[in-house]
Amino acid sequence: MTYQHILDACGLSAAETTGGTLSVTTPVDGSEIARVPMHSVADAEAAIARGVDAFDAWRKVPAPRRGALVRLLGDELRREKANLGRLVSLECGKIYQEGLGEVQEMIDICDFAVGLSRQLYGLTIASERPGHSMRETWHPLGVCGIITAFNFPAAPWCWNAALALVCGDPVIAKPSEKTPLTQLAIQKICDRAMAAFGDDAPEGLIQTLIGERDLGAALTASRDVALVSATGSVPMGKAVTADMAKRLGKTILELGGNNAMIVAPSADLEMAVRAIVFSAVGTAGQRCTSLRRLIVHEDIYDDLIPRLVKVYEGLSIGSPLEDGTLVGPLIDADAMTAMNTALEQAKAEGGTVHGGGRALAEQYPDAAYVSPAIAEMPEQSAIVHTETFAPILYVMKYTELDAAIAMQNAVPQGLSSCIFSTDVRETEHFLSAQGSDCGIANVNIGPSGAEIGGAFGGEKETGGGRESGSDAWRAYMRRQTSTVNYSRALPLAQGISFEI
Ligand code: NAD
Repeated sequence: MTYQHILDACGLSAAETTGGTLSVTTPVDGSEIARVPMHSVADAEAAIARGVDAFDAWRKVPAPRRGALVRLLGDELRREKANLGRLVSLECGKIYQEGLGEVQEMIDICDFAVGLSRQLYGLTIASERPGHSMRETWHPLGVCGIITAFNFPAAPWCWNAALALVCGDPVIAKPSEKTPLTQLAIQKICDRAMAAFGDDAPEGLIQTLIGERDLGAALTASRDVALVSATGSVPMGKAVTADMAKRLGKTILELGGNNAMIVAPSADLEMAVRAIVFSAVGTAGQRCTSLRRLIVHEDIYDDLIPRLVKVYEGLSIGSPLEDGTLVGPLIDADAMTAMNTALEQAKAEGGTVHGGGRALAEQYPDAAYVSPAIAEMPEQSAIVHTETFAPILYVMKYTELDAAIAMQNAVPQGLSSCIFSTDVRETEHFLSAQGSDCGIANVNIGPSGAEIGGAFGGEKETGGGRESGSDAWRAYMRRQTSTVNYSRALPLAQGISFEI
């Protein structure tokens, strides 16, 4: 299948993919696959205005009916799973299986949101005053801006959009400038779902802005955007937070991670090796939840690390579109430079590096294929505290579990974490208030590959946001507390006397 066939299968026309100013290259071989027209800041402002009008109409549509639109979206995604999954793979370089996984996550969150559309539960509350009732109700919030990163061009949009839509909010997507095609294809799928839904779906309900960060900044600047959900790097999150603070707007932030695994003496090492390799080299180490730090008990260190090095040496690196490939390319040459620089720093800090370096340079001279690296570190030094978006696994030894947990928690980020152990005292300690400080803490599972049922997000510099399952939907609504007096008197709260 040619690259053009992949674009065609997603219904992307020549007018949308040629003649524009935004050059889109595929990490598969570094070639240009599209030149996409970009929106201007004025276009973004017009989109926001359309979103405001759409909100006026959409909030009046009953929530279960709103859920019916998301059901149609899920149906379309089921039909388009293979096409969209292949486009994800072509555009951001993750292997096709992981591209399919992203679309499956979209389908799953649509299913979740459809059920949720009949469960936007509020509370009834006991009033201290006779003849009074109290309740909390959740109402639609307003236009939601959804800014996303290159490494997950599909699923995070849907974690946000599926919930926002059932909650009564129009959505405006601002995908990464490195991966706009996937969002253009998603917009087409949404347009079909809206057409099937009928007139209840107002114009401007689901929109896409293609361009660079100035469009994201247009969303954060506008008082008409009630919520900005932003996925990306920590510097981006800080810029978004500063902009939103100027108008006290609401944010959901899903930022960088520096995720660790503790491997205890009782761990099932066969399982641990599989989990380590999938989570450290999957998506070529370019997941927010990629495993970056391995903290291994000294008694099993000399057993585990040589096994890992051997598996790394046999990893199949290649085109993400080909069956059998486990490690695809990095997004671009800058990412490869960042990886090389980090490995040099690791060596300067006393590390011993296995693997690393450019791969497949002759076959793909314009792409950024690398060999995943393991860096054995004498301690958790400066480089280990930073998120380098590449397949580097830093390995450290520990003696006492509390010291391992302290090491795990000593980085600025707080997204995902895990322990491999069959000792229930250790695993429960890890999950307790004195354990992992991350938003995600797993046992005998790697840090990546979350299911949509649970709330997803992390603490500290990861931003504190939560998306996807559990009660994450509340961020897309406003809460109203109401006290109703059905008596013939007017008693004041706290027994205050105020006679006139
Ligand atoms: P990035 O921060 O460079 O860009 C992300 C998005 O933010 C892009 O759409 C970009 O145009 C936009 N943007 C950048 N500056 C902005 C500003 N000042 N105002 C508004 N928008 C702005 O990130 P990236 O390189 O695309 O993605 C990699 C990063 O994303 C990693 O740090 C990774 O950990 C993180 N990430 C986090 C999660 C999560 O759920 N926690 C998921 C995926 C990726």
